[in-house]
Amino acid sequence: MSSNGERDPLLGLAGESNLARDTNLGDLAAKDEKRHRATKVRAVVYGVLTAAFIAGVISMALLWKKMGRDDIVLPKDPQEAAQRVLDIAPVIDGHIDLPEYARTTYANNISAFDLNGVVSKHVDIPRLRKGRVGGFFWSVYTACPAHADLDDGEDFINATWRVRDTLEQIDVSKLLIEKYSDTFELALTSEDAKSAISRGKIASMLGVEGAHQLGNSLAVLRQYYDLGVRYATLTHMCHNAFADSGGYLVPMEPKWGGLSPLGRVLVKEMNRLGMLVDLSHTSDDTARQALEITKAPLIWSHSSARSVHNVARNVPDDILEKIGTTEGKVDAVIMVNFAPQFVAKPGKATLHVVADHIEYLANRMGKAHVGLGSDYDGIDSVPEGLEDVSKYPDLIAELYARGWTGYELAGLTGRNVLRIMEGAERVAAELKASGAQPAMELYDKRNDLPQGSLKAEL
Ligand SMILES: [Zn+2]
Repeated sequence: MSSNGERDPLLGLAGESNLARDTNLGDLAAKDEKRHRATKVRAVVYGVLTAAFIAGVISMALLWKKMGRDDIVLPKDPQEAAQRVLDIAPVIDGHIDLPEYARTTYANNISAFDLNGVVSKHVDIPRLRKGRVGGFFWSVYTACPAHADLDDGEDFINATWRVRDTLEQIDVSKLLIEKYSDTFELALTSEDAKSAISRGKIASMLGVEGAHQLGNSLAVLRQYYDLGVRYATLTHMCHNAFADSGGYLVPMEPKWGGLSPLGRVLVKEMNRLGMLVDLSHTSDDTARQALEITKAPLIWSHSSARSVHNVARNVPDDILEKIGTTEGKVDAVIMVNFAPQFVAKPGKATLHVVADHIEYLANRMGKAHVGLGSDYDGIDSVPEGLEDVSKYPDLIAELYARGWTGYELAGLTGRNVLRIMEGAERVAAELKASGAQPAMELYDKRNDLPQGSLKAEL
């Protein structure tokens, strides 16, 4: 975004002498003079660069606000308008499976591929740049035990490799963020994300996709938070010790009837930590109960509208009714999933249909409650017109042509989810300030620890 060259000043400037290598003492005076000049030049250059950097950050901050006031004039041409919006408010995607792709294709060997080339199904740096991406949640997903030929047992108590594999996915994500640090920057807060975006970086947040990855343990959740994870989906496509899943295309037979007793504690503990509760993949009852007990705003990181396409993975109308910022409603953002099987009948998924989901959700909840959660690299096929991460501008252009304003589009692309992150951070700070303590509850099916008086209670 702003070309402040923030790394350059630290590298030193040409013309500086190196006394360790200067053997000709007669030249020292001249070199001294030269060094003083270089120091002066450097001071001026540093000053200018610092000022440019500060100006860049301030102007970016103003632009985010400016979008809030809806006072930018957009060109008539939808493609040009989309580019203008994305200049100011690049896309923050709620769910991208690049780490899973690295695992299943390259065994997480980051030397085996180059993200500056075309390496994955839908995601690489050139296409992220073309798609005007400013940030995304890296899904540190590992499959449900049953989907990985593992049997965790009826009560989910058998050991699996889910925690190890999650740690490996956190590791590969961080290694990639570090390896391509010219492009990516780990973001732990909404402010981090805004700051990274203002410097032209792609803000990189981590999300765990299913509480089956927690090893039935709130301590594991806390450690994931410490490792940088900022959302956890309550389920994937299997029930777990905390909550019921919504299944795939049709609902699953429930085990808990929504959240388990420990699942209710999980939501509270996530609120206390400032980790976003993600309700994609959950059963309707899990979602309804989470909405009832959460103190913080929450997300659906990648879900669409059931009334537009009737599958269990999408969000039903009665839940949409509960989302909002007025009395009795919960602030949330549903980040629309592009997966063809969830947006339309076979062969019918297109950019236009995805836009239909966005508009339907926006009409029911308000445009401040919709975002983008493509599921790129985690889906085997894609809608026509949304083939990879380079295509977001076409979707923005389509919505602009349908009458969305710059302000509304900037909410969809990023401001809405940033508001949810800020809200969750604020709630966590308040809870901690009011003395909320870490949850000590144990999963009551565990027999490796003494079960005392701290069993999860409803
Ligand atoms: Zn998913």
